[in-house]
Formats: sequence, structure tokens, C-alpha cells
Amino acid sequence: MPRVTFKGASYALGGQSVLDCLTARGLTVPNSCRVGVCQSCLMRAVRGTVPDKAQAGLTRSMTARNLFLACQCFPTQDLEVALADDVIVHIEARVTAIERLNDEIRAVRLQPSRPFEYRAGQFVRLFMDPRTSRNYSLASVPSLDNDLMLHVRRVPGGLVSGWIFEHLEAGNVVTISEALGDCFYVPDKPDQDILLLGTGCGLAPLYGIARDALSSGHRGRIHLYHGSRDACGLYLLEELRRFAAKYPNFRYRPCISEAASSDEYWSGTPLDVALKETPDLTGWRVYLCGNPQMVNAARLETFLAGAGSSEIFADPFLPTTTSSAPASNLQ
Ligand SMILES: Cc1cc2nc3c(=O)[nH]c(=O)nc-3n(C[C@H](O)[C@H](O)[C@H](O)COP(=O)(O)OP(=O)(O)OC[C@H]3O[C@@H](n4cnc5c(N)ncnc54)[C@H](O)[C@@H]3O)c2cc1C
Repeated sequence: MPRVTFKGASYALGGQSVLDCLTARGLTVPNSCRVGVCQSCLMRAVRGTVPDKAQAGLTRSMTARNLFLACQCFPTQDLEVALADDVIVHIEARVTAIERLNDEIRAVRLQPSRPFEYRAGQFVRLFMDPRTSRNYSLASVPSLDNDLMLHVRRVPGGLVSGWIFEHLEAGNVVTISEALGDCFYVPDKPDQDILLLGTGCGLAPLYGIARDALSSGHRGRIHLYHGSRDACGLYLLEELRRFAAKYPNFRYRPCISEAASSDEYWSGTPLDVALKETPDLTGWRVYLCGNPQMVNAARLETFLAGAGSSEIFADPFLPTTTSSAPASNLQ
């Protein structure tokens, strides 16, 4: 039976993932979604071979550094592992502005202290202190924006979002990680249709992806459905309406689930409205971001409507579960 070695001790895996094996023994490994999405459980292979599945969605530079997702790692041979904190790149960034997008969402603009490579729609970890960080998606586009832009929603009682709302201000210097995640525009199929579905600040990566695709001259249809319970939860309406007027292939549908349709809004969830307008998604690329329940439902429904599973990219905004992790941890 393969064994995993961590901090000098060795454990039988017994068919478990590396993450389950280590946390079941009371060892602290940062983690959150446990389904290979949030990348909180990144670890580094020190010796041994990591199965391909454990590196799915990681960038080439991450795989070159032997990083892998502990929750997706079911080794068939012995493996020695370490926490990834010594190889995840940390970068200082100055807060250049904090702007109100609506009552509960702020745009945080950041200027990294050195060149920062990313794709619109990826996410970074923003550190409140060395012990505590959260993931925030990038709404900015490298070729269009000087600053990085995050959209942060205030979660009631939330540690990091509360700190951002109450204490963070222009001029402060914060630490962020390198860009993570695989939810971004790839200009390989300029005629492919693209569906973007999001709720709340799930608009952040979708806004970046849409602007990236439009500015890259994407020719296929780009349909963005952004949802909230009521109109107060929507934001960037005017700008997105301007894009829809400017680009014939761009459709924007602000959706509200607790009111009837009007001249300005579509009634229903973004998923319902999208599938009503486009029931056949064969050949489409789909991006899903925001509320985890919405993302999971949409992943299934868009697949059943014809989108290929390899063409569906999702970032459920899952809460982090390790805010009390020790200083060396990433989340
Ligand atoms: C890949 C990824 C991308 C993300 N991108 C963004 C983004 O662009 N903008 C953004 O605002 N957030 C985003 N998030 C969520 C973000 O990382 C934090 O989870 C969120 O800001 C709450 O952190 P907190 O410290 O304020 O709350 P915590 O102190 O961690 O939690 C306080 C309480 O609120 C609950 N909670 C935490 N998060 C949520 C939530 N999202 N919805 C409902 N309840 C919650 C917790 O379970 C807990 O009970 C993303 C998450 C992931 C995994």
C-alpha cells in the first residue's frame, strides 16, 4: 500500500487522498473545497510521482515546481510531500483605490510592486496577515488595465471581507499570491460561443473574461447573465449595457430572482434566463462563478444542455475553513 511522508513521519494512504490522509491524523493542511477548485490545499512533492489528476488546472510553472492539489492526489506509489508555502510566490501590492460598486461590494485596486503575470478571471490570495488569507478573483485585464482589480462582497461577520471594508485604504501595502486558477479566456477558438453565468461578485472574473475576449476580437457570441435577488445586488450595469450597445456579439442580461421582468431586468436566476434564451449549448464554452449552489446546478444543467464537460470552467466562491491555521499556512 502506498505511503505518504510528511514532516518526517510516514502514513499508509489506504485509498484516501493525501489531504484526507493527513487531516484525518490531525495534521494541519490548508484546504477549502476538497473538490480541486479552490487550490487552497496546494502541496509540493518532494520525492515520488504525482498522478496527473492532482495537477489538473495548474499552470506549467506550478507543475514545474512539483505543486499539486492534495485533495485530488491519490498516489499509486510512495510520495513525500511538503506544504507549498515556500514555493507559492508572494508579492507586495499597494492599494491604489477602493471604490463602491453597490452597498455590499467594493472594487479594490492594487498596484503590484513588480511585474505580475495573470489572465483575467484567475484569482489571487489576499493576505490580511501572515496567518489569514482569502481568494479573490481578478476583474482586471492585463492588456487593458494598469492596476489589478478585485470585487469584494462584504460577508456578514466575515473576517477578511470585514477587514477590507473597515480597515483597508488607499496607500496601504498588502501581500497577494501569484495568480491561480484556470477560469480564464483562451483565444484559441475566436468563433466559439461563450456563456458567462454569475451571481453577486461572481461578476468579477466574468467581467474580466468578457472584456478580455472582446478586446481580443472574439467573433463568437459572448452572453453574460449576472444575477442577484434584487436590483440592489447588481452592479456595473451601465458599463455592461454600453458594451452590449457597442459589440453586436455581446449580450448582457441583468437578472433578478425576486421580481417580475421589466424593461431593465430579466426575472429569474441567470441559469434559468440563459437556458430559456439558449436551450441548446452544443459547442459553447461556459464559465460559471459565484454562489456554489448556483455553480453546481449550472454545471449540471449546462452539460445537459449540450456543453462539453471540458468546456465548462467553474469557480464556486467557497468559504475558507482554516482561518486559524498556523503562521506558515497559506489560508
Ligand atoms: C476561487 C475563489 C474565488 C473567490 N472570489 C471572490 C471574489 O471575487 N469576491 C469575493 O467577495 N469573494 C470571493 N471568494 C470568496 C472569498 O474567498 C471569501 O470566502 C469571502 O470573502 C469570505 O471571507 P471572510 O473572511 O470575509 O469570511 P469568513 O470569516 O471566512 O466567514 C464568515 C462566515 O461567513 C460564511 N461565508 C464565508 N464566505 C461566504 C460566502 N462567499 N457566501 C456566504 N457565506 C460565506 C462562513 O462560512 C462563515 O460562517 C472567492 C472564493 C474562491 C474559492
